[in-house]
Amino acid sequence: MPLRSSEGLRKRKIGVMGGTFDPIHFGHLVAGEEACFSLGLTEVVFVPTGDPFHKAGRTISSAEHRYTMTMLATLDNPHFRISRVEIDRETPSHTVDTLREMRHWYPPGSVEFYFITGLDAVLDIMAWKEPLEIPELCRIVAVSRPGFNPKGLDDLPETIRENLVHLEIPLLAISSTEIRQRVSNGQSIRYLAPWLVEQYIYKNAMYFRNGW
Ligand code: NAP
Repeated sequence: MPLRSSEGLRKRKIGVMGGTFDPIHFGHLVAGEEACFSLGLTEVVFVPTGDPFHKAGRTISSAEHRYTMTMLATLDNPHFRISRVEIDRETPSHTVDTLREMRHWYPPGSVEFYFITGLDAVLDIMAWKEPLEIPELCRIVAVSRPGFNPKGLDDLPETIRENLVHLEIPLLAISSTEIRQRVSNGQSIRYLAPWLVEQYIYKNAMYFRNGW
């Protein structure tokens, strides 16, 4: 039964697609589209991370490069939007802060958030800021490739498990790490990411050896 706000109106179901997107690829886009249709979402807002403090030690492309690639990749889908909420925040990107901020963009009680991200990331959720507050703010949608054995899911607290939806996405066999490695090795990335993203990577000489 659809959730209703206190005014009796049907709540808008908004997907919040969180990721570093370095670079964004077809796996992310198919996951957003699948979540949109299978969960009946009104739209999916892609939120590239700002300061990825949890990746200290690894070189990450600038937030502006990652934002632009995400913009290029999502441009032609009427259900997809993109937000700078984490990029423009001066403090580290914490999901709980992002969801709290986004809640104020809409009239009180009018939206239900679905935070979508990779299952690997979700399995680490207890290390995030205020993890037990997250299910109070959204449903969690963990996406993985088919057959990925989500062993660690059973170890998560019940409040998180009860709020979690697991979606299997065949194209998630593609990974940003593999794309960066392929560019670095001079291998083709055609058909792994949208053409405009591919061209953006080459034009800005991203991911070439020693470049990331
Ligand atoms: P990550 O560790 O780089 O990614 C873990 C795995 O999940 C990778 O296989 C990755 O594949 C996949 N993945 C990441 N985002 C995805 C997406 N939107 N759709 C499908 N697969 C995805 O994870 P991350 O990108 O840094 O973080 C993911 C989200 O969790 C972000 O929104 C981040 O802000 C949030 N997070 C929050 C906290 C916190 O609040 N303290 C801490 C950590 C993460 P690819 O490399 O191919 O994307």
